[in-house]
Amino acid sequence: MTPQGVAILGSTGSIGTTALRVLDRHRDRFAVRALTAHANAALLHRQVEAWTPTFVALVEGDGEAPAAWLRGAGALVEAATRPDVAVVLNAIVGAAGLDATLAALGAGKRVALANKESLVVGGALVAAAARRGGGAVVPVDSEHSAILQCLSGRDASEVRKLVITTSGGPFREWPAERVRAATVQDALNHPTWSMGRKITVDSATLANKALEVIEAHFLFGLGYDQIEVVVHPQSIIHSMVEFRDGSVLAQLGVPSMELPILYALSHPERIADAGIPVFDAVSAGRLTFEAVRHEAFPCLGLGIAAGKAGGAAPAVFNGANEQAVALFLEGRVTFGAIAEAVEDALARLAGLSGGDLPSLWHADAQARRTVREKFA
Ligand code: NDP
Repeated sequence: MTPQGVAILGSTGSIGTTALRVLDRHRDRFAVRALTAHANAALLHRQVEAWTPTFVALVEGDGEAPAAWLRGAGALVEAATRPDVAVVLNAIVGAAGLDATLAALGAGKRVALANKESLVVGGALVAAAARRGGGAVVPVDSEHSAILQCLSGRDASEVRKLVITTSGGPFREWPAERVRAATVQDALNHPTWSMGRKITVDSATLANKALEVIEAHFLFGLGYDQIEVVVHPQSIIHSMVEFRDGSVLAQLGVPSMELPILYALSHPERIADAGIPVFDAVSAGRLTFEAVRHEAFPCLGLGIAAGKAGGAAPAVFNGANEQAVALFLEGRVTFGAIAEAVEDALARLAGLSGGDLPSLWHADAQARRTVREKFA
C-alpha cells in the first residue's frame, strides 16, 4: 500500500506533536509531506530533520529559517492544497485555521479537524467548500470523534440528541465568586487533559464546550435543542448519542488524544496500535455525572445563544473569546472579565451579517477590537 500523504498544520503544538507520535507508529500507512508552525522555528527544525517533508512553512517569527521554508499565512493554504497531500490535519489554534480548512476541502482533501474554530466561525462555508470540492471533515475533538463512532453511519433522523461530556475543568466545584478571581496558573491546571494554553483556558471557562456544541451542530446537522452538555469529571465517557428508540450509545476510553487523532486519519477503518493504555473498567471505577453550573460558567450559555442566533454571532463569540483569553494570559484582565467581554461584544455586534467570508472576517476583527477597547 502506498502511504497517504499528510500535511500537519500547527505541527509544533499539543495536537501537532501528539499526531507526529501517532504517525511514527504508522509509517507504512502515512507519510508526512508538509509541516507548518507559527513561530517555533527550533522545534520545526527538529521535526523537519526527523520527517523530511517536501513542504515546510513558518508563518511568523524572527527565528532563523532556511530559505526553502515558506513564510506568511498564505503558506498554510499552499500546504493544505498540495497534490502530494491527501489528508490535512488542521491543528492550528484559533480562527487563523479557517482559510486552510476551506482551501483543503475545496481541493478535495480529507480534513482531520482539530481546529474547531474553523467550524464555529465559518460552519456553513466549510460545508459548502466540502460539497464543492469533494473534501470531507473528520473531527479530531475527542467528543465529536466519540459521536462519530457512536453514529457509525446511522442517519441523523434516527438521533434524538447528542450528549457532549465535559470534565467541568479545574473550577468545577469552585463557588462562582472564586471562579471569577481565578489566576492564570489556576486556569492552566486542567484536571484530566494536557493541551495548549488557549484551549486549556477555554476548558476552564467552558467556552470550549460552547465551541464544541456549535461544532457538533455543523458536523452532525442537528438543532441546538438536540445537543446537551453534561459534566463527567472522570473524562472516560467521551460523549453519547441517544437514538429515537431511547437507546443511548457511548464511547469510552482513557483520556488521550492519540485515538481520536488516529481515527480521524483512518475513519471509517480502525487500525491497530493507537498507542493508548488498555481500558480497564475496574480501575476506571466510578463514573459520575452532574449538571453544568451555568451561573459559574456563563461562557457556555453565551456561546450556545450565539450559535442559535447564527449569522456572524458565532464568529463574534469566537473572536471576542480569543482576544479576551489572550489578554487574560498576558495578565491584563481577570478570569471573570473573559465572559464579561464576550457578552459585551455579542450585545454590541448583534445582527452583523455573516453570509460570506469577508463579512465573517469583519465580524471577527470587530469583536477583537471591541474587547481591546473595553480594557484599554
Ligand atoms: P497549541 O497552542 O498547543 O498549538 C497550536 C499550533 O498552531 C502550534 O503549532 C502553533 O505554532 C500554531 N499556530 C498558532 N497560531 C497560529 C497562526 N496564527 N497561524 C498558523 N499557525 C499557528 O494548540 P493545541 O494543539 O492545544 O490546539 C490546536 C487546536 O486543536 C485548537 O483548535 C484546539 O481547540 C484543538 N484541540 C486541541 C486539543 C488538545 O488536546 N490540545 C483537543 C481537542 C481539540 P507555534 O508552536 O509556532 O506557535
